[in-house]
Amino acid sequence: MYEAGDLRVLDAPDPVIEQPTDAVVRILRSCVCSTDLHPYHSMTTDEGPRAMGHEFVGVVEELGSDVSGFRRGDLVVSPFFFADNTCEYCRAGLHTACPNGGWYSADGVNGAQAEAARVPQAQGTLVKLPADADDALLSSLLTLADVYGTGYHAAKQAGVRPGDAVTVIGDGAVGLLAVLSARQLGAEGIILMGGHKDRTDIGRLFGATDVVPERGEEGIAAVRELTGGHSTRAVWRPSATCRRTRWPSASCAPAA
Ligand SMILES: [Zn+2]
Repeated sequence: MYEAGDLRVLDAPDPVIEQPTDAVVRILRSCVCSTDLHPYHSMTTDEGPRAMGHEFVGVVEELGSDVSGFRRGDLVVSPFFFADNTCEYCRAGLHTACPNGGWYSADGVNGAQAEAARVPQAQGTLVKLPADADDALLSSLLTLADVYGTGYHAAKQAGVRPGDAVTVIGDGAVGLLAVLSARQLGAEGIILMGGHKDRTDIGRLFGATDVVPERGEEGIAAVRELTGGHSTRAVWRPSATCRRTRWPSASCAPAA
């Protein structure tokens, strides 16, 4: 991206192994994230040009000498942030605080809306996928790169437990996958706040028991109505987790 609205597809040098902890991955699937939309609407010329993309699945093509546990040809997914997965932050589940980690499309690291990418900290970052994944499964597995992991992380941070009642604010990809994650963690009451029927219908498929299309004070009143005035134990707006922030924005205090 060069500036707001100015996206270009360019020929670029093939990524190569630069550090012994690197891998080079040929990309099969990549996607646009809501965080790409912010600069797409607001980026100024002096902020560009910037490589795009941080979500992908692909095939390992090259491995640095310090990377073990992977082979050329392995089908892999990368989370949106690379990390060593061994330091105290990573062991605490806070990979985006990893001192040896970083973002794709930043600080000279390539983007993932490309035919191939160099993956720093490959051993701690890449996750192997079923080698026989077909087209449909590949598209689903791509959600593991960001939106599913982000929705699940928010549900975990909110401490969702079996029998729980939760409210998810936002019917974007992250919000819908937070609904699915809450259901998988055993929540029984899942209120989805969102105004796009095509999306909230998916939210119901994923486990939402109630949908509140109203926003603001009206939305709060509707949640209170559904919960006998008590709201739910956990309320979160998962999409904020995806932005370049180090900590999730889950809160456990009743919002209503
Ligand atoms: Zn780390």
